[in-house]
Amino acid sequence: MEERQRITAQFRDFTYKSVPIKDYSLDENLPTQPNCYVCTSSPKVGLGSLDTLPLEILHNILPQLDLLTLTDFRRVNQRALQLVASLPQFKAINSHARDALRGILSIETGRWITCEDLYATLCTAQCERCGDFGAYLYILTCKRVCFLCFTQAEAYLPLRFIHATQKFGLDRSILNTLPRMRSIPGKYANNPKKCRERLTLVDPESARRAGIALHGSVAAMEDHAWDIAGQKMLRYEVRLAQRSAGLSGSSTTRRPRIEGPFDRESDNPLRFMAIVHMPWLNRTTQDIELGSFCVGCEGSYNAHRNKPMYFRRRFNVDSFNAHLKECGSIKDRKHCPNRHENTIAQ
Ligand SMILES: [Zn+2]
Ligand SMILES: [Zn+2]
Repeated sequence: MEERQRITAQFRDFTYKSVPIKDYSLDENLPTQPNCYVCTSSPKVGLGSLDTLPLEILHNILPQLDLLTLTDFRRVNQRALQLVASLPQFKAINSHARDALRGILSIETGRWITCEDLYATLCTAQCERCGDFGAYLYILTCKRVCFLCFTQAEAYLPLRFIHATQKFGLDRSILNTLPRMRSIPGKYANNPKKCRERLTLVDPESARRAGIALHGSVAAMEDHAWDIAGQKMLRYEVRLAQRSAGLSGSSTTRRPRIEGPFDRESDNPLRFMAIVHMPWLNRTTQDIELGSFCVGCEGSYNAHRNKPMYFRRRFNVDSFNAHLKECGSIKDRKHCPNRHENTIAQ
């Protein structure tokens, strides 16, 4: 118990709540909206045969519905709205992850994410890729992620259809079956240019798996992509030769783009279009944790662009304790390696 109090105190004393930089993620582009997920009046009609089922059964079944179906169901009448609002999982989501729900419905990924999935992810603290504290949700497939992972890993870079086709050899009929989204116009990734179009983007991991399944192996999928790119280049060279020989009426011949678009990582707007902030709900204590920043890493912007001392890394009590063990205790707002035993003393 004393040990727990000690690490809680060091978390309180050596972290701060926000950095003066906006992320420009999806939730920061959603219009402000009153809470429309609560029931305010008494139902006048019931749900027909559904009302014959015990409430416990309905409470077991409804969270397994995908969020699109569940939110459509709650529009049936006041009784349906009341029933959905009474689900413990939905209550927690509405209280602590409303922007995640609004974001999911806005970019149209609700059919791939169940209420139970979202609730389970709300109650999970770790980034699904690296295990660090994750303060964000990737809502193309409902994965909790940390800043470094969603800005660097290929798995969280939604792809335009044309790029998924080039990379994985998939056609539109297959892409249309995979988790995909329609972006919301707005300002993303601190990019000075506002994204005005609604882009259709596909989840890269789902596309990769579909490509491997279609072609039989990673090697066969990559060979296919190379063949297609090679054929495009060949056709381009033929057109070029025809033009040089005066056999083509066209005055310009554009070189086909066979490589994917340049990924600007934390400056890439596509990486922020399916990202919302989401706190961690501790199931045991029912406490909410948004993640805090380390004072010892605050001034390390130029020195550390990656873990363990990246200044945008967020911590909870446990991950901060592990961070101090790795990087040293803090004195005068700086990490001091090999001073673990005096963590609290300043
Ligand atoms: Zn991570
Ligand atoms: Zn630190």
